[in-house]
Amino acid sequence: MKGKVLVLGGGPCGLSAAWELSKHGYNVTVLEKGSKVGGLCITNEYNGYRFDLGGHRFISKNRELVEDVRTMMGSELLTSSRKSVILLKGKVFEYPLSAKDIFLKMDMWTNAKAFMSYLIAAFSRMFVRKREVSFEDWIVRRFGRTLYNLFFGPYTEKLWGISPGEISSDWASQRISLLNLKDVLFHLLKLKRRTPRTYAKGYYYPKKGIGQMFDIMGGEIESMGGRIVLNAEVVGVNINNDAITGVRYLKDGVEETIDCDAVISTISLPDLINTFPAHLTAGMEKHISLLKFRAVRFLNILVNLPDISENTWMYVSEGKYIMTRIQEPKRRSSFSAPEGKTSIMLEIPCNEGDEIWSCPKVDLLERCLKDLKDLGLDIRDKVVDYFTTGVTHGYPVYTLDYVEHRQKLFQFLERYENIITCGRQGTFRYIFMDIAMEMGIAAAHHLMLDTMSKKDAIHHMRSEDELIEVSSVTS
Ligand SMILES: Cc1cc2nc3c(=O)[nH]c(=O)nc-3n(C[C@H](O)[C@H](O)[C@H](O)COP(=O)(O)OP(=O)(O)OC[C@H]3O[C@@H](n4cnc5c(N)ncnc54)[C@H](O)[C@@H]3O)c2cc1C
Repeated sequence: MKGKVLVLGGGPCGLSAAWELSKHGYNVTVLEKGSKVGGLCITNEYNGYRFDLGGHRFISKNRELVEDVRTMMGSELLTSSRKSVILLKGKVFEYPLSAKDIFLKMDMWTNAKAFMSYLIAAFSRMFVRKREVSFEDWIVRRFGRTLYNLFFGPYTEKLWGISPGEISSDWASQRISLLNLKDVLFHLLKLKRRTPRTYAKGYYYPKKGIGQMFDIMGGEIESMGGRIVLNAEVVGVNINNDAITGVRYLKDGVEETIDCDAVISTISLPDLINTFPAHLTAGMEKHISLLKFRAVRFLNILVNLPDISENTWMYVSEGKYIMTRIQEPKRRSSFSAPEGKTSIMLEIPCNEGDEIWSCPKVDLLERCLKDLKDLGLDIRDKVVDYFTTGVTHGYPVYTLDYVEHRQKLFQFLERYENIITCGRQGTFRYIFMDIAMEMGIAAAHHLMLDTMSKKDAIHHMRSEDELIEVSSVTS
């Protein structure tokens, strides 16, 4: 297909689609609601410091994608190694949880309880067949109730804001690596064994923050003749004979229309359906309203210290603390803070408009400084300045029936052959930036090859039944 292509959303998925189409000489326009490109992968600069929206890292199993990114970034791309820990009950545990670490650091009573409930869970899995519908079912049947109550339950409830019994087991199966009791045995017998397969350690990160990747990609798109319209919020689609003929967007409060031959949409799936005329979407309201996103607020603190810790991510599982993760941006790139200084970023999950989302930043800082002190990171006297950022569409909430609602919306789109929905928001999938980029590139290929009718392949590409983040070409 040749003609005018509109890409809705300028995050990793939308930009990758536009990048690929531009390379093949297509006439592409990206409409992006924000004031810069990058989506969840932007980096904000503030007085010589740089903060992502929650520290990102780039890893991928796709060699071709990694090579393309390396070529695009040149010497601006650094390689780094991840070290993550869990702060729990005044102790520091390895991330992901390891049986050996629990055994060495927990008291005898907790260890005995954890071991017993692990055994009960293992036997019950062996002898009792049960559908593991929820996150809670999945974890309790693999780790036992004690570890669930200690770590997985509180962390998950804080992250999603709903009980883990109401979250689909899909989220667990792709995120949680299993405990290996052989570790404990080998340790007790003082034997050495090969490091077990775990999350990828090596990763790529641009010098100036993850957003630099998409600033450069945006520049390349424009230099190949593509157009990027910022501050352009898509609000409607025009339809003729089951084809999208134009897209309406608001720019500086004024509605404008742009004609098109095809659309690649990466805006949220429910939002996209809402841009269709109401008479066509009758019956979809329930499915739209039941696909929700969890928001995240970030507290970014400039700190007058050279370093705070050696960790890339510190996970905070206990429900009494407001944040889920603490990060020191300098661990990803030394260019994230001026020489001799550092910074800290807290990820605070919430819902758009709730108490945390609307909390004045000074109160949020106060609350977080108390939490940090309690966690052994007393930085109150070293705070130079701070600011907050936030995202409304941080995580698609995998409720027990999200698949059914998502499928209904995919089915609704089937009859419109010249539109593809893709990306993290567009497919309502908990995917990382590399898969979002692969999806964008695949969507571009479907369009170029006139195989738009096979768009279901895009919705489900790189399915979620395997553990993600396990390996990458860097590790
Ligand atoms: C806290 C956090 C940490 C993460 N860490 C990592 C990590 O370390 N590594 C990793 O690979 N991934 C990470 N991710 C995931 C990664 O950010 C996403 O996979 C990636 O950004 C998805 O890209 P996308 O283009 O599909 O969606 P998005 O990045 O969400 O882009 C969608 C774009 O659409 C725009 N848009 C929305 N509505 C409209 C509209 N109506 N009109 C016009 N434009 C619109 C948005 O402004 C946005 O720019 C993390 C995510 C979060 C929340």
